Amino acid sequence: MSTHYTPAAATPAALIQHWISDRLDSGAGERRAPVFNPATGQQAREVVLAATSDVDRAVAAARAAFPAWRDTTPQRRARILFRFKDLVERHAVDIARLITLEHGKTLPDALGEVQRGIEVIEFACGAPHLMKGQHTPAIGGGIDHWSQRHSLGVVAGITPFNFPFMVPMWMAPMALACGNSFVLKPSERDSSPSLLMAELLKEAGLPAGVFGVVQGDKEAVDALLTHPDVAAVSFVGSTPIAQYIQQTGVAHGKRVQALGGAKNHMVVMPDADLDGAADALIGAAYGSAGERCMAISVAVAVGHIADELIAKVVARAEKLKVGAGDAPETDMGPLVTAVHKAKVTGYIEAGVKEGAKLVLDGRGNLPPECNQGFFVGPTLFDHVTTDMSIWREEIFGPVLSVVRVPDFASAVDLINRHTFANGVACFTRDGATAQAFTQHIEVGMVGINVPIPVPMAWHSFGGWKASLFGDHHIYGEEGVRFYTRYKSVMQRWPGIESKGPEFTMPVNK
Ligand code: NAD
Repeated sequence: MSTHYTPAAATPAALIQHWISDRLDSGAGERRAPVFNPATGQQAREVVLAATSDVDRAVAAARAAFPAWRDTTPQRRARILFRFKDLVERHAVDIARLITLEHGKTLPDALGEVQRGIEVIEFACGAPHLMKGQHTPAIGGGIDHWSQRHSLGVVAGITPFNFPFMVPMWMAPMALACGNSFVLKPSERDSSPSLLMAELLKEAGLPAGVFGVVQGDKEAVDALLTHPDVAAVSFVGSTPIAQYIQQTGVAHGKRVQALGGAKNHMVVMPDADLDGAADALIGAAYGSAGERCMAISVAVAVGHIADELIAKVVARAEKLKVGAGDAPETDMGPLVTAVHKAKVTGYIEAGVKEGAKLVLDGRGNLPPECNQGFFVGPTLFDHVTTDMSIWREEIFGPVLSVVRVPDFASAVDLINRHTFANGVACFTRDGATAQAFTQHIEVGMVGINVPIPVPMAWHSFGGWKASLFGDHHIYGEEGVRFYTRYKSVMQRWPGIESKGPEFTMPVNK
């Protein structure tokens, strides 16, 4: 009999709890936070907020489970991940529905998120290969030399609201494949998918304690960041918090990767396919209501094409269907909370005050069924300049700014001056332009005629500058590097004649 935390189980009465030692756990903390259905604006249920003692129990369970998991062969670990992948595939619709219920994104988009999470599990199923070390036989004097990968211990993941399944999957499968135990602290705004994830890992055969979930806010995060038994912290979220996480974690002796916010530009060259570019802008700026760290929020129109490009974008944006994420035909759902909606509309007001031309205003003209939820329609600003807050800051909503520049060099210069450097795209038909762009743009992930170039699971994801703090990108090979440490071993067996004590540095001469 399935007792899964499915959408049917996510009733108003269902309290979103922690997952500690393979069980739901309501914790010692008294504090709770409301979780909303963004499409209706109504509170849907509550989530518990961990006290430090709850985090201590989750870390203790993970620490107790670690030695046996570390010593489980990589192949056996991979088999559990294979079963997990299969279960996630079977429950993909349940997971997607939970995402839509609490995040608001459309169901097809949520299914896409689940699929991108599955792809990291697939990659992590290669654990035996990923854990392989390096070997050099006979380096001299009968000695063999190798480096082997070791797990770190208990590692923690702190994740944002906008991908409540995919971003935890960027971390947990990689960490588990590498023999670590993992404590997840999901966003308190849409935490339900974390419980189904935990149940499916248990069903896949993961030993108790190896994966735990603590629901919560800053108190839970601080408890993880300062806990002596947490060896590493992966974070994805906004830039100020990413910087805080990295500095605090490092100050407490932890390995930290902290991915931050973004302001992604898409350059449209005069030779580009303008219809293709307009389609790309619509999907990349307004998909998921702009709540993606790889969303395009600035179109850089080069040369004479700005008016034509804007006309094409407007014609498409006016046809978008805004509505509940689970309603058929919806292109764009609501924002996650009323607070976030107020932030986004605040930026629209600021853009108008700062002198940008508001071509499409998402604050009005919405269908009546959107009256109660946290909706903002597609918004478009033209004549945006680099002194405006709507260019400098991350809005994280369906607001696209158009900046007009005279030539390619000005486009590259504009983007390279930005503090954020997560993703970027260039639409052109010219190979030399594409090559120059790829080479000179100072951004972590680049698309040529690809608006949202999120790396596949066997590559790694990460921005530059204020979009990432730490040394490693996330998942892929970088994930293996982050979740393991090398041990170097030199070995000589008896039988080789000793030359007596040696007092100088051994060298090969
Ligand atoms: P957020 O920074 O508010 O929250 C992220 C996590 O940090 C959550 O788990 C939250 O509980 C915790 N947190 C929030 N405030 C905290 C504080 N003061 N101290 C300690 N912990 C705190 O981010 P969000 O609003 O959930 O997500 C949106 C942001 O995430 C955007 O800036 C977006 O660009 C970014 N993001 C980046 C990537 C990337 O790969 N670079 C991916 C997804 C989202």
